[in-house]
Amino acid sequence: MEASDGQPETLPARMLNEFVYCPRLFYLEWVQGEFVESVDTLDGHRTHRRVDEERGSLPKAEEWAEGLKVRARALSLSSDRLGLVAKLDLLEDEEGKACPVDYKRGHGPKDGDGLWDADRIQLGVQMLLARENGYPCERGYVYYAETRQRVPLLWTEALERLITETVVRAREVAAEGRIPAPLVDSPKCPRCSLVGICLPDEVGFLSRGPKEGVSVEVRPLLAAKDDALPLYVHRSATTTSSCRSSRLRTMRCPSTYRLKAPWSPSKAICSRSAREGP
Ligand code: SF4
Repeated sequence: MEASDGQPETLPARMLNEFVYCPRLFYLEWVQGEFVESVDTLDGHRTHRRVDEERGSLPKAEEWAEGLKVRARALSLSSDRLGLVAKLDLLEDEEGKACPVDYKRGHGPKDGDGLWDADRIQLGVQMLLARENGYPCERGYVYYAETRQRVPLLWTEALERLITETVVRAREVAAEGRIPAPLVDSPKCPRCSLVGICLPDEVGFLSRGPKEGVSVEVRPLLAAKDDALPLYVHRSATTTSSCRSSRLRTMRCPSTYRLKAPWSPSKAICSRSAREGP
């Protein structure tokens, strides 16, 4: 089902995680449908391998009772009313309540409540959907695989408000039809799986130029594969393609430019121009 702005009405909790991490990443994935595997995403799949297997079943909300033993993995909860859907890694009982547990690779922050903001929203949406579906949920956990820590999150009115505001903002950004500006000199970018599509430093450099107090240093792109090379195509309306002579061809009407370096189709290009500037 689509909303009137052309976006799917049902927003996955994972996309709200991306939105809080970086609105541009959310836009690239949710609106433009971009996805690229990286070491981090592959490691994330590995962390989820066990919890992604459907096991155990979730009793109906009206059958939930104190003393019931529940351990259900890889289940989906949704709400048409809220326009949200979430895949829960695990939902188990704790002191008569339903507790979602979200598995994450890596570790939580050392300060605050031990949860990254993006993880707080994703787990919060899982708790909201558990409640919306009639389950008694007052608490959830993020399990950080690197430190093997379960970090609790309590259901509060403030958390509910935060989720509501975040959903509204994410829908507005998606409906705007204009990709948000990249983060500036952010440590998040080098590890972002879409850095080669987003090109945060390059877009920032070209759109901002040198400004006092703002770094315009363009950090080098690291190719994800040993045999890949970063390729910068900086003329507008230029496309790239391979040709029979095993050379990479860049085209910009009406001229055709040939790169001097030999190139084989098996050699991946780890970068390409962002579709739209900020
Ligand atoms: S590279 Fe940085 S600015 Fe671009 S989508 Fe990823 S986190 Fe956002």
